[in-house]
Amino acid sequence: MIDENDKITTTSDDVETGEVEDTKKDQTDEYEKICFLCRRPESKAGKMISLPSNIYICADCMQKSFDSMNNMNINYNDLMQNMPNISMIDLSSLQDRIPNQKIKPKSKAKAKKDEKEPVKKLDIKSIPAPHKIKASLDEYVIGQEHAKKVMSVGVYNHYKRVATGTMDEIEIEKSNMLMIGPTGCGKTYLVKTLARLLDVPLAIADATSLTEAGYIGDDIESVVSKLLAAADNDVERAEQGIIFIDEIDKLAKKKNTNQRDVSGESVQQGLLKLLEGSEVEVPVGANSKNAMVPLVTVNTKNILFICGGAFPGLEEVIKERLNKQSSMGFKADLRDKYDNDPTLLEKVCVDDLRAFGMIPEFLGRLPIIFTLSGLTREMLVKILKEPKNAILKQYQKLLALDEVKLEFQDGALEAIAEKAMEKKTGARALRAILEQYMLDIMYEIPKDDSIGEVIITREYIENTGGPMILLRGQEPLLLESAQN
Ligand code: ADP
Repeated sequence: MIDENDKITTTSDDVETGEVEDTKKDQTDEYEKICFLCRRPESKAGKMISLPSNIYICADCMQKSFDSMNNMNINYNDLMQNMPNISMIDLSSLQDRIPNQKIKPKSKAKAKKDEKEPVKKLDIKSIPAPHKIKASLDEYVIGQEHAKKVMSVGVYNHYKRVATGTMDEIEIEKSNMLMIGPTGCGKTYLVKTLARLLDVPLAIADATSLTEAGYIGDDIESVVSKLLAAADNDVERAEQGIIFIDEIDKLAKKKNTNQRDVSGESVQQGLLKLLEGSEVEVPVGANSKNAMVPLVTVNTKNILFICGGAFPGLEEVIKERLNKQSSMGFKADLRDKYDNDPTLLEKVCVDDLRAFGMIPEFLGRLPIIFTLSGLTREMLVKILKEPKNAILKQYQKLLALDEVKLEFQDGALEAIAEKAMEKKTGARALRAILEQYMLDIMYEIPKDDSIGEVIITREYIENTGGPMILLRGQEPLLLESAQN
């Protein structure tokens, strides 16, 4: 640009001073000069300014050029229009662009974060009525009618209490629960299902791993930090959650011991303040407190505590009490009256639990005590096929993906239930048994495209025959058991 200006000025100076080369003068004298820009002849436009390569520009056009040059530094767009072959770098636009590029990924990341669903908060006011909670539990948990009813009412009252806060003089007591039932009867499953239905965070802790603070094992307060983690470190959400402490019977006071019991009675003592409601400082994102981990305060006032245990030997304690009561006076019963009573556990009272080794203060903080019954064969069969996410339904779905239909004969289900009963681990044995028999099926079926249906027979479960295989569009065919 500057060069051009210089050239122009020098040439115009040349013209003004008359220092034009003789040869050029000769050539141009023959023709009338014409302005390169406005195409007017010298006779009309006046004296021309000559530029190198025999280009002439009239004074008007030269003036216009200078004017537009002066305006150029203000408006770059005009410049680009006036001088189409000259491109200029607009520094200010560059400056705009550089930070823009930096911001872009940032704003993208932010947008991604925004896309994430906001954490759902429990709307306590809309807590469903007990019968609705129970109806939802019914879809997943088989039997245990009494337990489901007690829990539905307990949870409903608990969250009503949380919603109203402290009521004038009448303060509603916390409805912490203690569930007693044999292993594998659905204690953990009930609590898990409940927490999922209510959409509240749940922490499941094992009482056997807890010890008094300062000893090897988990601190008692670690159950609260588990809940905080389950609530994505949202203190407010954690404060409305549920803590399930399993194997609570293992905390029973040890009889005839003089040693300090750091994992039993002391843990019961330590749990007292949590159950009642207190402020605990818990580490965020870690299980134990140390200098590197930030601490937050969680109030356990509105956290629902549910304790569960199998309490082996409790039936003996109950029987002893009942026998003592009934063996006095004229109406004394026979001593073996309760020996085969299947409902014996339901007759439990706080005194029995105290005799078992739970301390009275602890029991006092668990006002709702209920029992779950052991699973019968019929219940096990139902567990196999009826819940929303029943094991059979899961296998059927898996095979349906291979376009194979899976059916179980009633006899087969009964045989599986009988085998599970023998294991004495409740419904937990069902999956293990089924897994064992389904392994061969899941291995063989995808090999053969022509198989359209598999029927599991009682014989297959009892190892006396094989499953029934139906080819697509053909009659049933008995497959030799791969185990035989
Ligand atoms: P525990 O009483 O020892 O805590 P769980 O609740 O862990 O036993 O039960 C183990 C599994 O057995 C559960 O995951 C669940 O699939 C199944 N189960 C147990 N009881 C029931 C039941 N009443 N209805 C449906 N499934 C059950």
